Amino acid sequence: MLLDVLLTAEEKALKNEVRDFVKNEVSTELIRKMDRDEITYPREYVKKLGEKNLLGLRFPKKYGGRGLNWTGEIAALEEIGVLGTALGCAFAMPSIVGEALNRFGTDDQKENFLKPLLKGDLVSAEALTEPRGGSDFFGATTRADLKNGTFTIKGQKRFVVAADGADFFIVYCNTNPQGKPHERISLILIEKDRPGVEVKYLYKLLGTRGGGTGRLIFRDVKVPESNLIGGLNQGANIFNSMMVPERLTSAGASLGMGRAALEVAIRYSDRRKAFGQKIRNFQGVSFKAADAIAQLDSARALTIAAGKAVDTGMSTARRLVSEAKKVATDAAWNIINLSMQIVGGIGYTNVYPIEKLLRDARLIQIWTGTNEIMNLLIQHEFYREVLGDSSPARLIEADAEEAGAADEKVYIDEDMWTKGW
Ligand SMILES: Cc1cc2nc3c(=O)[nH]c(=O)nc-3n(C[C@H](O)[C@H](O)[C@H](O)COP(=O)(O)OP(=O)(O)OC[C@H]3O[C@@H](n4cnc5c(N)ncnc54)[C@H](O)[C@@H]3O)c2cc1C
Repeated sequence: MLLDVLLTAEEKALKNEVRDFVKNEVSTELIRKMDRDEITYPREYVKKLGEKNLLGLRFPKKYGGRGLNWTGEIAALEEIGVLGTALGCAFAMPSIVGEALNRFGTDDQKENFLKPLLKGDLVSAEALTEPRGGSDFFGATTRADLKNGTFTIKGQKRFVVAADGADFFIVYCNTNPQGKPHERISLILIEKDRPGVEVKYLYKLLGTRGGGTGRLIFRDVKVPESNLIGGLNQGANIFNSMMVPERLTSAGASLGMGRAALEVAIRYSDRRKAFGQKIRNFQGVSFKAADAIAQLDSARALTIAAGKAVDTGMSTARRLVSEAKKVATDAAWNIINLSMQIVGGIGYTNVYPIEKLLRDARLIQIWTGTNEIMNLLIQHEFYREVLGDSSPARLIEADAEEAGAADEKVYIDEDMWTKGW
């Protein structure tokens, strides 16, 4: 199995520990109730994860983490991912919010927020997206004005997971409207019980239900300056760091979602018969399974490679993380679709969980940065790497038979329009 090659013994043990948790501690009823929107946030599940010391695995032990690296967390995320997006996200959120607190928070913030977060005593949410848009991070219009040691916050955020359910939010606010885009934003921690904080609207979602996704409104909310995370106008820098857990947790959990659907399809195709034989005997079926298996392993390998790149501080980490998010979430979507096709009509019903995984998985191509935004980053980084390479590999352009045909190597420039050939 691929993971035997990629994981250490310690990481495999963690994976098995999380697999046992998923198998024994999470009831089918919880999943069904969340999907029926009968539960707005799975708080007890988060508490149980905290009790088992499974939240924020990467963070130092002194704050309640396990001091592990990304590879271990990705292995854990694959196991959690089989539960679907909402429970996967509830597991991932302390890793995302914790990144900001652990790297940029003050001692007090670590004591009062990071520690209880990792115990599952407090629930957090990240509020970046606004009604005006999510992709354009620097366009945030939620204002935070600092005067005499107090921020006054005014604005709205939407599509915030755990808007209903969280005890505190970390909110990207515009603190410097006249500044350059990357010097405009600050990250501010806002407790839910502050006057002027309102959870306005819980969305009716295609999937990922039960995660408390809603709209937040801040009406002149007063927050002490000590709630600032990192420095004033340092939001861009913090977001660059938070991008990593945002995207790697989406990638890691999507591995589990794809795997879960595929395993249902594999078992089904070994039982179901048509034309007098098991459907798995038809290449039209088994080759779909092969396509799904190969996509799953490719996504696993890339996601773990991206995690290792982050752990070792490689310069290509940013590109690899974006690639992992795009490739793994697209793979999950494809694999779930292939699995549904293998199962046929009954796969489209709620007799099997594939339809729920399909509804859940559609989101992961959109959130934590759309896959178009991943493309933006991937190509940008790669152009920079290739064009900035001071010691490039063999220039194979010179190997072409007619490599010297300078007249044919035309790269149109302005002159040609004015001067002609
Ligand atoms: C259920 C759910 C939960 C969510 N949870 C959270 C959360 O907890 N916290 C949070 O802050 N946000 C959350 N989001 C928001 C999510 O991250 C955004 O929806 C996403 O980033 C896209 O932003 P948008 O919807 O405003 O689309 P827009 O930014 O308006 O983009 C619309 C389309 O244009 C494309 N586009 C935009 N700019 C470019 C470009 N430069 N190049 C190419 N294409 C581009 C996008 O890819 C997309 O296809 C959640 C969303 C949902 C639906």
